Amino acid sequence: MQIVREAYKNEIVDGGKRLLHQGLTVGTWGNLSLKDPETGLVYIKPSGMPYDDIVADDVVVMDENGRIVEGKRKPSIEFRLHLAIYAHRPDVLAVLHTHAIYSSVFGTLHEEIPAISEDFAEIIGQRVSCSHYELPGTEALAESVIAALGDEKALLLPNHGAVCVGSSFEEALKVCAVLEKTAHIYLLARAIGKPEVLKPEDVDVMKNFMKTSYGQDK
Ligand SMILES: [Zn+2]
Repeated sequence: MQIVREAYKNEIVDGGKRLLHQGLTVGTWGNLSLKDPETGLVYIKPSGMPYDDIVADDVVVMDENGRIVEGKRKPSIEFRLHLAIYAHRPDVLAVLHTHAIYSSVFGTLHEEIPAISEDFAEIIGQRVSCSHYELPGTEALAESVIAALGDEKALLLPNHGAVCVGSSFEEALKVCAVLEKTAHIYLLARAIGKPEVLKPEDVDVMKNFMKTSYGQDK
């Protein structure tokens, strides 16, 4: 008998509302999941339900092989993508898939977003790449995301949206928000001029500083 924790279901419910109300997705699109590192169980949004209507009982709980452990709803159609990321990235405990406007602009152009702002450098790094196109909900999409994401925190899905990961929901949400803000700035900057990209060595310094020295001492 595997232990299912209500706290994770509630975090999916609240997290979905935050994705929606921060403008990172629309309608029933996008999805989110969390992994409990102790049990390995994955908690994921139900398929095709409006975020504001989802309650804890609608959250689907799966094991690492995609077997449903608890929940009466069908899981998000992108459950393969979520499970594949957890399988390849032991550091990841939260996966968010957004349909955010400005991130999607660059996905539509099949272009990467470079480090043009400090918060992006600190939280994400040198760039957010764009994978190649695969149909939603497919094993091929899951495989292309694994290959293109590598060890990074975010990836653009062409003509679709973005995937952001973190060691917690809060971290993954911050990545999505900074990616979207940077995509917005990059679009505006390119509309009136040629944006200067931060030097790779400066990006490394900022990212490292964020990891080791930023914030209050514990
Ligand atoms: Zn999608």
